[in-house]
Amino acid sequence: MDFEYRYTSDQELFRKEVNDWLDANVPEGMKPHFASDAAHMDKETFRWAKEFRQKFGEKGWLFPTWPKEYGGGGLTAEHDVIIQEEVSKRRLPGFRPSELMPAAVMVWGDEDQKQRFVTPTLEGKRDLYQLFTEPGAGSDLASLKTRAVKDGDDWVINGEKVFVGTHHGYKNGPDSEPEIDEEVDEMFTLAITDPDAPRHRNMGYFMIPGDAPGVTYQTLDLLADWGKLQIYLDNVRVPNDRLIGGEGQGWQVAQTSLELEHGGGGQIVQRDHPTLRFLELASETGRAKDPHYQQTMMDAYIDSEIGRLFGLRNYWMYESKQEMSYHGSQAMLWRKESVLRIADATRDVLGLEALVDLDDPKVKFDGELEHFQRDSLVWAHPGGTIEVQKVIVARRLGVSRTKERAATTPSTAGKQ
Ligand SMILES: Cc1cc2nc3c(=O)[nH]c(=O)nc-3n(C[C@H](O)[C@H](O)[C@H](O)COP(=O)(O)OP(=O)(O)OC[C@H]3O[C@@H](n4cnc5c(N)ncnc54)[C@H](O)[C@@H]3O)c2cc1C
Repeated sequence: MDFEYRYTSDQELFRKEVNDWLDANVPEGMKPHFASDAAHMDKETFRWAKEFRQKFGEKGWLFPTWPKEYGGGGLTAEHDVIIQEEVSKRRLPGFRPSELMPAAVMVWGDEDQKQRFVTPTLEGKRDLYQLFTEPGAGSDLASLKTRAVKDGDDWVINGEKVFVGTHHGYKNGPDSEPEIDEEVDEMFTLAITDPDAPRHRNMGYFMIPGDAPGVTYQTLDLLADWGKLQIYLDNVRVPNDRLIGGEGQGWQVAQTSLELEHGGGGQIVQRDHPTLRFLELASETGRAKDPHYQQTMMDAYIDSEIGRLFGLRNYWMYESKQEMSYHGSQAMLWRKESVLRIADATRDVLGLEALVDLDDPKVKFDGELEHFQRDSLVWAHPGGTIEVQKVIVARRLGVSRTKERAATTPSTAGKQ
């Protein structure tokens, strides 16, 4: 039996439209970019990606299935699949803004907030940072210390956030580094509004403009770059209409963002380039002829494929508005654990060739395999660690002390 999905002729025409547009808007010979290597993006590329994001947003292709009235494409999931397939083949520098804040505002914000924060993001006119983690509050996020104090119609926010996302090219030297307000337009954060209220009822979810006075930062040099920042909020003043949800509802609002960050929205293409590179180099060097290495390579490929299929299943469940449970964290847990196994397999089969870095004249694939070795370790943390994903899966399956349901997302809003 042939299970291959066949696209309709209309869908193939749409694919051609996407490709023609990409041919016209992506410079020929553009260097392929690794998914997480933001720290090496030069200023020129960063600015190109920003402009490209806006043009892509104008087409409605940044968030194809989101409602047109809020800047989305109003298109079908099939259109989305085609767009993402074609974009992923080109390995463009990161340009898509995060959907984590727009999702939370769609569920918890008022109409004015949806127009002010969601619409420009979906149109590609805004980039976003998530300011949740603090030096003493990562896995145990509810222990955060950042404080928001009401002052008339404003909130005054003080605190410190860490591991904040960026596209900075700071590894190329100070001249390459865009200023933070060039890079980010909005930051969404959690801050304690009532220290006397019970845990999980004591914080608000705030939007902070990227150029707000009192925001300073320093770059963090992580094992696999990722271009992360430590951000300091020093008497940062925001009006009350930048509070999403109620004064004590921030934890619930953040759960919507986190549900998607944990993989609840799924993933269409997980074109696992490091694994494909690994298999390619193993063939090139003749190691793929060894039966023992063949086993190791196939285990790695199967690990990678299972991750892709989890992502697809979740995408289908999300787009068809099904109630989700452990599925997001299951996919993320698989990905985090399997990249460690795949990195081990790469070293077992390729030996030192898996570790040849950019500074070595013998480097292959722009150092992607060596970068993957470091990346696989760093991957264990963003969006909740391996242990945290296990706790979530256990709670949702009801095999933990507590039983919980998935947080509401735009997909399930109004159904629970
Ligand atoms: C590359 C990268 C990108 C990131 N991007 C962002 C971002 O854009 N915005 C943002 O807000 N944050 C971001 N983060 C932060 C990320 O969410 C945190 O690193 C993560 O939640 C873990 O927190 P922590 O680093 O403080 O580790 P800790 O919470 O201190 O954990 C340390 C270790 O202890 C384990 N552990 C902790 N508690 C338990 C428990 N109860 N049971 C069992 N084991 C436990 C953890 O699993 C981990 O192995 C990013 C992190 C990285 C590395």
